Amino acid sequence: MKTPDFVQLSPVDHLPTEPDAADNPSSDSESDSQLPATQPDEPVESETESPCCGPDSGAASLYADELHEIHSLVPPSQADIDQRMLFLGEKKHRFTLVLDLDRTLVFSSPVATGGQCQEPAFQFDVKIRPYAKELLEKMSKKYELVVFTAAEESYARAILQLLDPTSTLISGLAAQSQCVLLPSGHWVKDLRVFADRCVDEMIIADDNVFSFAFNLDNGIPVAEFRGDMGDDELTFLIDYLDEIADSKNIVKTNKKRINLSAGCLK
Ligand SMILES: [Mg+2]
Repeated sequence: MKTPDFVQLSPVDHLPTEPDAADNPSSDSESDSQLPATQPDEPVESETESPCCGPDSGAASLYADELHEIHSLVPPSQADIDQRMLFLGEKKHRFTLVLDLDRTLVFSSPVATGGQCQEPAFQFDVKIRPYAKELLEKMSKKYELVVFTAAEESYARAILQLLDPTSTLISGLAAQSQCVLLPSGHWVKDLRVFADRCVDEMIIADDNVFSFAFNLDNGIPVAEFRGDMGDDELTFLIDYLDEIADSKNIVKTNKKRINLSAGCLK
């Protein structure tokens, strides 16, 4: 059995906070991928609207309750975004793949440490999701990879050391200070915070639909990971990302395939 990885944080670091988790539809099943089924024969490049698009499309139906709530949310103002701007710098690939951390790539839980005489510290048992490293290695050849988490940056950087120890795969990190906390209690990862990137060239994979509430056409919902080491959700994500990587317009292609915004039209 694989020994879990541990992340040790100093007392000045803060506990990771991903309050979105409680809002997610829980899914431990290996067979309930929320990604569209791989359809090798389907032309990815078509820029015309799919005749099957609509409120009855799979993902929109699966997230009907969340999308109904999202429809009533007010997007962050430009001033909110301006306060959170992040520059990523030079990029090697045309498209940027934004990846959530907790419950998408890893599952971590705090564990008790030491006795009373020890300096207090936080330690986390971190389970790396099956195929997470394969995803990073394969997709780094096709996309610019950026992690966007609602957790504190210090925690996220410690986790990235486990996922990408040579710092060669993931080229950017956005953390809680780049997120917007809505009055509804939802943390939102608005893609407009990436000051030197075009939103039309970014896609975001996250286990929480609220994370990309205002970038639904860019969003790829991923089934939540809660530590099940038989989980194979990321194999579906790898296949899907492979398919759409050469799209002329990746957001349009993603909308055609997943079409979450259809659920907001009701
Ligand atoms: Mg998450």
